[in-house]
Amino acid sequence: MSLCIHNAYRVTASGVGHGGVLVGDDGRIEALLDGPDHAAADTVIDARERLLFAGFVDAHVHLRDPGLTHREDFPSGTTAAAIGGVTTVMCMPNTDPPIDGAERVAVTAAIGAGRSFVDFTLQATIPAVLEPGMAATWASGITSFETSLADGQEGVGTDRLDDPARLLDVLEAAARLDATVGILAGNQSITDALTTKLQAAGRDGSRATAEARPPLVEAIGIAQLVEAARATGARLVFRQVNTARGFELLRRARAELGAERIGVEVTPHNLRLTLDAVDRVGTWGQIIPPLRSAADRAAAVAALVDGTVDFVGSDHAPHAAFEKEGLSAWEARNGSPGLDTLAPAVLDLALGGHLTLCRVAEVLGTAPARVFGLADQKGDLRPGLDGDLVLIDPQLQRTVSPDLIKSKPGRSVFEGVHLRGWPVLTALRGEVVAENGALVGPPRGRFVARPCA
Ligand SMILES: [Zn+2]
Repeated sequence: MSLCIHNAYRVTASGVGHGGVLVGDDGRIEALLDGPDHAAADTVIDARERLLFAGFVDAHVHLRDPGLTHREDFPSGTTAAAIGGVTTVMCMPNTDPPIDGAERVAVTAAIGAGRSFVDFTLQATIPAVLEPGMAATWASGITSFETSLADGQEGVGTDRLDDPARLLDVLEAAARLDATVGILAGNQSITDALTTKLQAAGRDGSRATAEARPPLVEAIGIAQLVEAARATGARLVFRQVNTARGFELLRRARAELGAERIGVEVTPHNLRLTLDAVDRVGTWGQIIPPLRSAADRAAAVAALVDGTVDFVGSDHAPHAAFEKEGLSAWEARNGSPGLDTLAPAVLDLALGGHLTLCRVAEVLGTAPARVFGLADQKGDLRPGLDGDLVLIDPQLQRTVSPDLIKSKPGRSVFEGVHLRGWPVLTALRGEVVAENGALVGPPRGRFVARPCA
């Protein structure tokens, strides 16, 4: 089945042009069309001059499947993705059991096959025994290893790298394989000490849990990781960076060691919101690292604009209501759904004049595909790439409310926030999979292995 979407403003990282895209029977982009005319195809869609992007790529998604499916599963999470214009999700490994080796990669790929509405890749934890565990896992087609200096990955699959000697061993092994390591900076010792003090003082609430993770822990963690990357030659992706000082340290590290070795992710909530969100949505705004100040938020936007940030990842991290509500903030789970609102949260910045549309195409498509080795399949509008497309209506404005959230908890840190620029049609490899807020057709998503694997 071929697909032609025409009469659009086609947006890529390199420019905006009036035209369309023809996807061939094989599901790959066959041609870019210029002007209002369409090409012959089984399905022809007039975009009516709305914005046409390559399907968005979200490199930071917790689908919770298997084992934690009371929070999310492949069908529910990828429903949010498809309706939200995200055609590739990169799945974090802290499922139960975790994705901790090649065998779990194969099992989890099979669990998602036939149940996913968009394409997915898998990420893995650091194996307990580095050799030959890391080599075998990397060869299984994962897009990255994922770990953290502090807090770990929420209970299951925690493999915190707070021992500096172990960190160096891991990064040396990753450098030998030329493997990508995604990592969250932090400092467990400081967080533990502050938690003890805050609890002894009788403090509770999401602001107290944020105080246990001050901007200082990110800066210390980043400094440590940059030196470890320098010493080992490893390629890192710094996850969820959200402090002014953190962006400054990474700006320097990228200039010195090369941007291709020091990847930087920012989340949509850190671009748009401050810790005041917890006054509005309670623990649904309790996330690690915590939401920050207005100055840190402005620094995140500046870093996105000036290229210090490579890409925006949602850190889609659903939890059930019973894990969030009616509990001490110290007991409540950290994280919130993000797939539903990723695209409008970033597009609204562009439509408000803070970011170019080309940069949106880059940070939601081209860049995450490049950083994780999928540039020849995903994230851009070029002949030969997968025909993953998303049509955005720049006039469509909505105030985020629970009924818009397709992720299992049906809640969002963006509730009450007004956003412009919502997806109205999503196609995966040439097949329409979502239109006007509803799914179209059966689950067509596939496991995508990193191609050189
Ligand atoms: Zn995460």
